Amino acid sequence: MADNPANSRPRVLSGMRPTGKLHLGNYVGALQNWVKLQDTHECFFFVADWHALTTDYDDTSRLADNTKEVVLDYLGAGLDPKKCTIFVQSHVKQHAELHVLFSMITPLGWLERVPSYKEQQQQMPNKDLHMYGFLGYPLLQAADILIYRPGFVPVGEDQAAHVELTREVARRFNNFYDLKGKPIFPEPETLLTPSPKLLGTDKRKMSKSYGNTILLSDEAAQVEQKINGSTTDRPKLTDTGFPDRCPVGNLHQIFSDPLEKAAILEGCTTASITCQDCKRRAIRSIEPHLGPIRERRRQLAGDPELLQEIVRGGAQKAAKAAEATMKKVRESVGLLPRASVKDVAARQDMHLPLRVPASIGKAVGNEERWKIRTEPWLERVNKNYPLTPDRDTRRLFITQRRRKVGLYAECQGSDGRWHFELKDRPLNVLVLLAEDRDRYLHDYILPQSFLQQYWKHFEREIHQGGSTVLIVLKRDPNGASLALKDSDLPIQQYEGGYSALL
Ligand code: SF4
Repeated sequence: MADNPANSRPRVLSGMRPTGKLHLGNYVGALQNWVKLQDTHECFFFVADWHALTTDYDDTSRLADNTKEVVLDYLGAGLDPKKCTIFVQSHVKQHAELHVLFSMITPLGWLERVPSYKEQQQQMPNKDLHMYGFLGYPLLQAADILIYRPGFVPVGEDQAAHVELTREVARRFNNFYDLKGKPIFPEPETLLTPSPKLLGTDKRKMSKSYGNTILLSDEAAQVEQKINGSTTDRPKLTDTGFPDRCPVGNLHQIFSDPLEKAAILEGCTTASITCQDCKRRAIRSIEPHLGPIRERRRQLAGDPELLQEIVRGGAQKAAKAAEATMKKVRESVGLLPRASVKDVAARQDMHLPLRVPASIGKAVGNEERWKIRTEPWLERVNKNYPLTPDRDTRRLFITQRRRKVGLYAECQGSDGRWHFELKDRPLNVLVLLAEDRDRYLHDYILPQSFLQQYWKHFEREIHQGGSTVLIVLKRDPNGASLALKDSDLPIQQYEGGYSALL
């Protein structure tokens, strides 16, 4: 189902918004599971910085730092860039491109009825969330997911509605567009992750907005302080309690071993332990988990270049996978592929590739060949920049502004290069027409600034009555270069630059 021919493991995609450092709730709700998945699945984990803007658009002063912190949290928690791809969403532009295309086909009603659209507006009454970005964020999420064509999306139960929207968008896209009858997007399955509920230190759900979190980056002393300060369930020592309703009991359930868990349950429900003792034991249980995370985080935070390299490498890998999908998407939608721009431009008069007439084969003598080769070029250029032949001097033309244009044309030599022999004389513009083996004519228009800089660097032949300048042109995949006495000079930037004739 997943589009990963080079990798037989099922592909998985997930991400988190960088609205601050990650906390234990994020760890037990997702990260811990991701760390396991990286061994069994081909995983793409990203920091959703564009998503952070959907609610925090008015203050982005911490966005870059938060993004970095979340990457550190990912790595600290045990995500390994050798096993999975870790990247920052905004580094892979294809996500935005697919979002735009999805936005063309997604009915507004689909977005308006996503439960979190209304819920979050109610939760943040002081924030103006009447923005397209906020309404469209589940669609951006659909693009984030579908661009990797994953088989599964690991989510907690509360996010299942988003994956359902993603599936609907995939279906709708596939209904509108396909590639030779084949659908573009698989409909990813929801991989419901076991996400135990974790209460914050004040007994509400652990969340940054409540300020009741224990961060993955907290020092041991901070963790201790936060646990000791947690609101518990037993106002009096003699009261019995309910560990599943207590933040400290929650921590035991997740981080303590079975024996300790049983002892806490027994002690709390029979009032045979104090909350203080229970907290001390929770701190002891949690430290073996948080300690190594903190240490890995610290090491990576001290090596910004390594961090940069991890994020750069991740973006490269992600972009490769995303681009593979986007090629299919663009083709299925019917967008013009970039590689064909030349072909279309070729239908326009000015950009039609020049072809030397077949009569060149029967031409006798250099002069006749030169005339046949320059004819198509002159015909085209004269439409915009009339050139008047200088009757007294062969291969010299004058523009309307009295600029002297040297015009030379050659056929490709047996060494694959073009050898031009020029009269050594002052020119404002030099035009080299290079006919290739398919009779196409490539024009290189070298302006005065170029000639002033390089004219003296070409080889020369001195003979009676003056000297001849020898110019050797070589075409390569990136353009063309001229052989100077001591080096090769790339000239592709001058190709087709008719402005030099003005
Ligand atoms: S004994 Fe532990 S689990 Fe029970 S209420 Fe106190 S702190 Fe919470």
